[in-house]
Amino acid sequence: MKKIIFPLLALFLVSCNSAQNTSKKNATPQDFANTISAKQLKTMLYTFASNEMQGRMTGTAGNVKAAEYLRNFYIDHGIASPLADKEDYFQNIPHDYFRNLKDNKPTQNVVAYIKGSEFPDEVIVISAHYDHIGIKNGEVYNGADDDGSGSMALLEIAEAFQEAVKKGYRPKRSILFLHVTGEEIGLYGSKYYTDNPIFPLENTVCDLNIDMIGRIGEGKEGNENYVYLIGSDKLSQELHNLSEEVNKKYTQLELDYTYNDINDPNRFYYRSDHYNFAKHNVPIIFYFNGVHEDYHQASDTPDKIHYDLLAKRAKLVFLTAWEVANRENRITADKLN
Ligand SMILES: [Zn+2]
Repeated sequence: MKKIIFPLLALFLVSCNSAQNTSKKNATPQDFANTISAKQLKTMLYTFASNEMQGRMTGTAGNVKAAEYLRNFYIDHGIASPLADKEDYFQNIPHDYFRNLKDNKPTQNVVAYIKGSEFPDEVIVISAHYDHIGIKNGEVYNGADDDGSGSMALLEIAEAFQEAVKKGYRPKRSILFLHVTGEEIGLYGSKYYTDNPIFPLENTVCDLNIDMIGRIGEGKEGNENYVYLIGSDKLSQELHNLSEEVNKKYTQLELDYTYNDINDPNRFYYRSDHYNFAKHNVPIIFYFNGVHEDYHQASDTPDKIHYDLLAKRAKLVFLTAWEVANRENRITADKLN
């Protein structure tokens, strides 16, 4: 028996090996981007933006529950924490940091990390806030778009990078997946992170920030193929050009720069977490679908999300991060005064 089984087993091992080599040779960034699935985003968002999370208000039990959901995803997918204690995915924020919190329960940023192979000290941050505005008059504000959409996109992006690592494609630079808290009460989580960075800000290559990418905003009715980009050319023309090239090559979304105008009265450039990086001269891109009738209403629910569009926008962020991470030279803040 042994004599017969052994050569067969050996043959099997050889063929597995060669299959692996072939798949390695042929894998493209697009293959990993394609692991980002509308179906998975939908399944996850229906939990993350359910009443169980109580609107995820900073300093509440629902906020902690949401943080635990994110942490468990990273543990389940074998994605490490960047903190000294590898089991700990929470960057805890002291109570006194929040000046306008009524409720003094603890809160935390959630952090996970993939270490780069060639330039591990250079870090690309991809961020999304996971807090929302809680319960008002007995109504849960689920924040499916704001920013459940970005939070779930970030998980899927992390999973895509991890799939690449498993296939032998570790990014050259490190990636930090940063789920910030306290956004809705004044960008506190991102401010705390940039005041207490896990990796020095001078080694932070850029921040790609996602806040609301699951809906079709006002004035875009019927358009299933756009996203607003804000800030991409403010500090780095190189980042802007790279972002344009990546979209042209892979996703072909209509990149709308309406809100990128510094004189735009909405001032979106200053209104989400990327701004705390930009003010430290870290190049950023902010991905956004624009406001809509359910913005900051109890009616921002997961049934209204356009999941195919959410997946496509998430792929653009993944592929942009991939290119920044794997380029031979680090992109520079070439537009600093
Ligand atoms: Zn938001």
